[in-house]
Amino acid sequence: RSQSFNSSEKHVQVIARPRPLSDNEKSQNLTSCLNVNETRREIIVNCKTSTTRFFNYDHVFGCQTRQQDVYKTVVAPIVDEVLKGYSSTIFAYGQTGSGKTHTMLGKFSIDKLSKDTVTAYMSILESEAGIMPRAIHHIFQGLQRQYIDYTVKITYLELYNEELTDLLADTTNEQPEKIKIYEDKDKTNTIIGAIEATCETPFDAIKVLIKGSQRRQTAETLMNASSSRSHSIFTMNVTMKDAQGDMRLGKIHLVDLAGSENISRSGATDKRAREAGTINQSLLTLGRVITALISNEKHICYRDSKLTRILQDSLCGKTITSIIITLSPANEAETLSTLEYGHRARSL
Ligand code: ADP
Ligand code: MG
Repeated sequence: RSQSFNSSEKHVQVIARPRPLSDNEKSQNLTSCLNVNETRREIIVNCKTSTTRFFNYDHVFGCQTRQQDVYKTVVAPIVDEVLKGYSSTIFAYGQTGSGKTHTMLGKFSIDKLSKDTVTAYMSILESEAGIMPRAIHHIFQGLQRQYIDYTVKITYLELYNEELTDLLADTTNEQPEKIKIYEDKDKTNTIIGAIEATCETPFDAIKVLIKGSQRRQTAETLMNASSSRSHSIFTMNVTMKDAQGDMRLGKIHLVDLAGSENISRSGATDKRAREAGTINQSLLTLGRVITALISNEKHICYRDSKLTRILQDSLCGKTITSIIITLSPANEAETLSTLEYGHRARSL
């Protein structure tokens, strides 16, 4: 598949990333249900029913693949296009505990950051940092090299039970502004009320990322909820001015989706059923939208969920969409359902 993007083509690529068995899974004598053939870009599932199933994707990673290699293979070419003025969305899709947050955010520390940005970034890039901090670094590096002027604005939203929360809002403000999605006459959606953090340096942007991510974790603990039911949407809007004075707009959404296990279950209590239902709605709608885009359908059901309304502009037109499916190798049923979702998104 070509890495240069043509505006008339729809680019949806699907990437599979299994994680290794955890110590806990090993101590329970659980085994992996899958094998990876990286060169054939294939995941092989050895089912308990003794059948073997094969799934092909645009890339597949072995379970020991490092964060920087995922970035280099999948994300770096996309960010290079964003730096030319394209829009892009990268999703992490998979069951809870399969590595979505590890892949998108990962683990890194700001404590090691010094005032010297070069040293500071070396420490992040050598750590278990995921796609988000690496994309920040890469975007600023590209902007500084290629453009005479630029602005970077970040929004960071959470979607839980079809309610939007601004992860960058001041938590001391008791009545934060409600975030609304407004539909224009020409059917494009605008988000109203979300904080746009203007970042002068990559260091500013990393701080914004950490602030929002910590807020997501704290909110979950307070609500006794789990990230399994919320989507987070981290967006960088980039305005670039080149030496000829020409302006370009690039955009990237990095989306850590809710756990896909909810897609086929309904909860026992009303509240849970409702929550499961709405997540079901967002994930199912996302799947349908992607399918419709690939098969060049005229009517695309963006309006059926908030997630697809927010991402509408970045899923159609001059865009690149990637779905990274993350897999927990000890869970055969969920692994198969994730592989099938990824396969539908790619091949239909
Ligand atoms: P999710 O966000 O999908 O619920 P997490 O990203 O929180 O899952 O991952 C669950 C656990 O597995 C975490 O402790 C994480 O560090 C670990 N993990 C996930 N993916 C990998 C990987 N590729 N390599 C090593 N550890 C991983
Ligand atoms: Mg998570």
